[in-house]
Amino acid sequence: MSSSSINSSTSCYCGKETPIRISTTDGNPGRKFLGCYRFPAKTCDYFRWVDPPTTPSSIQKKLDYMINRNDELDSKNSALEKKCRGIEKELEKKKLECECLIQKLEKLEKKLESATKLRKMMNWFFIGLCVLMFMFK
Ligand SMILES: [Zn+2]
Repeated sequence: MSSSSINSSTSCYCGKETPIRISTTDGNPGRKFLGCYRFPAKTCDYFRWVDPPTTPSSIQKKLDYMINRNDELDSKNSALEKKCRGIEKELEKKKLECECLIQKLEKLEKKLESATKLRKMMNWFFIGLCVLMFMFK
C-alpha cells in the first residue's frame, strides 16, 4: 500500500468517503486505518492501513516525537501565559485610567452646568440693565 493512494477522496466499496480511524487493538495500538464509513455497523469490508506496521522502533519514534512536541507546547504555553499576564496588567491599568477620565469628565460637566447657569443669569442682568437705562434715559 502506498501512502499516495490515501487522500481525502478515498472511498469504501459503498462509494462513501472513508474516515481515518485509529486502532486500539493490542497488536496495532495507535495505528491509523481506513475503513467503511458505516463501521462498526455492518460494513462493506473495505479496510486499509494508513500507517506502516507497528514495531518497537516505530513506537519509540512516535514517543520521541510526542515528547518533543510536548516540550514545544509546554514552552509555547509558558510564553502565552506570560503574555496573558502582561495583557491582564495592561488591562487593569487602562481600566484605572478610564475611571480617572470618567471622574474628570463628570467634574467638567458640573463646571459646564454652573457656567451655563451663570451665563443665563448674566443675560437676564444685562437685559434688566438695558430696560433700566431705557426707562431712566
Ligand atoms: Zn462501505
